[in-house]
Amino acid sequence: MKLVCPRDRTPLRDGVCQQGHEYLVVDGIPVLLVEEESPTHAACGRVEQLPPPPAEGLDPFVREVIGATCGRLYEHLIADLPEYPIPELRLPPGGRRTFLEVGCNWGRWCVAAARRGYVPTGIDPSLKGIQAARRVAEQLGVEAGYVVGDARRLPFADGSFDVVFSYSVFQHFSKHDALAVIREIGRVLAPGGRSLIQMANVYGARSLWNQVRERRFREPRTLFDVRYWGPRELRDELERRIGPTDLSVDGFFTLNPQPTDLPLLPARYRAVVRVSEAMRKLAERVPPLTLAADSIYAHSRRG
Ligand SMILES: [Zn+2]
Repeated sequence: MKLVCPRDRTPLRDGVCQQGHEYLVVDGIPVLLVEEESPTHAACGRVEQLPPPPAEGLDPFVREVIGATCGRLYEHLIADLPEYPIPELRLPPGGRRTFLEVGCNWGRWCVAAARRGYVPTGIDPSLKGIQAARRVAEQLGVEAGYVVGDARRLPFADGSFDVVFSYSVFQHFSKHDALAVIREIGRVLAPGGRSLIQMANVYGARSLWNQVRERRFREPRTLFDVRYWGPRELRDELERRIGPTDLSVDGFFTLNPQPTDLPLLPARYRAVVRVSEAMRKLAERVPPLTLAADSIYAHSRRG
């Protein structure tokens, strides 16, 4: 993984670029955040480190993160997560192609990519997340590069990656930031490279239900705790900045649970994931159903 300065894109050596910008390197991890950018994440700009992990078992940081994400479906697991939940990457075998995950946190998709034959790099603004990702990769015997940085200023040269992937990340960006990130993804993709971006759909069945409920009980501004996009809007922006784009279903009714996590879920949630999977398969034959999915994948090819 060759890094460049996130400000001027000259090569970095030991955390210093050719123009003299200096970056922290904590515990061997380059921290390539740029103060000029307003934070996209609570962890931005705060260089907090994790305490050392216990000698055995799952990383406590990962337990905590899993309990707090995925619409709290996994909350019951904080105390006794039996293994790291590694999702299934919906991409063809990697054949040693390079893979960038934008907003990787503890690196579950990077692990999935490595196991599928890709050479993964993960970037995230949270040093704690990246430290955990490195520890998890080591525990699982997976090779992956990790760096702390800002998705709007990717510290990689143009055309560095064959695949760029992002999951459950764009919903946290303002529209303005999301467009800057899409532009960056297009820049770091090699010609003919592919991106796969997961996004919450404003027209998803559950999204609509949440919006109706929230409008009834709360002020409308809270609608945008998760920033939903219309699928066509997302596709148009991706086509403008990356290239031809297709949409497909990730899931219905919830935002993030993975079929691979079925054994980890309580029965009532398992039922939801099973129905979602059945509808996802149905949508392959009935494409308009895609527009009603709560979680959508956008697959773009760089021209
Ligand atoms: Zn520089």
